[in-house]
Amino acid sequence: MSASLPVTIDDIEVAARRISGRVLTTPLVASAALSQLCGVPVGLKLEHHQTTGSFKLRGATNAVLSLSAGDRALGVIAASTGNHGRALAHAAKVEGSVATICMSHLVPVNKVSEIRRLGAHVRIVGRSQDEAQEEVERLVAEQGLVMVPPFDHPAIVAGQGTLGLEIVAQMPDVAVVLVPVSGGGLAAGVAAAVKTRRPATRVIGLTMERGAAMMASLAAGKPVHVEERPSLADSLGGGIGLDNRVTFRMCRELLDDVVLVTEAEIAAGMRHAYAEEREVVEGAGAVAIAALLSGKIKDIEGPIAVILSGRNIDMDLHLSVMNGETDPFPEEAV
Ligand SMILES: *Cc1c(COP(=O)(O)O)cnc(C)c1O
Repeated sequence: MSASLPVTIDDIEVAARRISGRVLTTPLVASAALSQLCGVPVGLKLEHHQTTGSFKLRGATNAVLSLSAGDRALGVIAASTGNHGRALAHAAKVEGSVATICMSHLVPVNKVSEIRRLGAHVRIVGRSQDEAQEEVERLVAEQGLVMVPPFDHPAIVAGQGTLGLEIVAQMPDVAVVLVPVSGGGLAAGVAAAVKTRRPATRVIGLTMERGAAMMASLAAGKPVHVEERPSLADSLGGGIGLDNRVTFRMCRELLDDVVLVTEAEIAAGMRHAYAEEREVVEGAGAVAIAALLSGKIKDIEGPIAVILSGRNIDMDLHLSVMNGETDPFPEEAV
């Protein structure tokens, strides 16, 4: 692994010490059903049980704690499809700061109200993550708020990487790690941690066919724009930023593969999580199970660690998926 990557194992270890006691060490439990299906041990990293319902609290807490007291007092701001906003709102409140969260009209209502409840200011602008981001930049310029981006920032990546340290500690012989990918902060951090500790471990990214920005960018050899489309995996929506500085390079260098799943496969992954594992996961949190169930992970070797990244789904939507809905967001309706 190149020593010149923007986030190293040292940064991740510092982050782990910094956020210790402020985030949960989530369990990694055996899945009897998936182990039988795959013929190798499969463990589920239950990160959807993290405080605020997703791993995003790791990066957000590390980023807020990395700020000077003066910057923290000014307040923090971000654009978010929901889970980063929720995590940043919580982290800011715990550390005596205030968060302003900008989001697009595509973000589900349950995520917006939760962020308000966590004490943040919410601004809803535009039809895309990019438009929400423009509002962030305006408020940074006008009011001096400190931007904490959802993924493309060294402190965020280092915080998410603490999840990789936990996986290696909990499953020391892990052969394959399956990690959901959107902007790539989670994948970059986890891969940096896992591959430093166990260079032979394969780290495979999973994302949805509808709007796979990191996949398209890796294929193009540079960050490219991909149209945002409604998906069951709404937390994976949004681009990687055309001026991406951290996560694109790290994902290109560290990920062994990126695999795409369909809406129907994501729905099947969510149903498996619920019926077989007794877990409520959102679409983004189910893409790794979806890939295993669909047979899209080739050359299976074990043990496999599967990251369940979040559980913040509208419960009516969850219920309709459990009842057999496979595509709640058909493209004709867009
Ligand atoms: C943000 C998010 C992801 C993707 O993380 P990136 O760092 O943007 O790649 C996956 N799952 C859930 C639940 C998320 O909230």
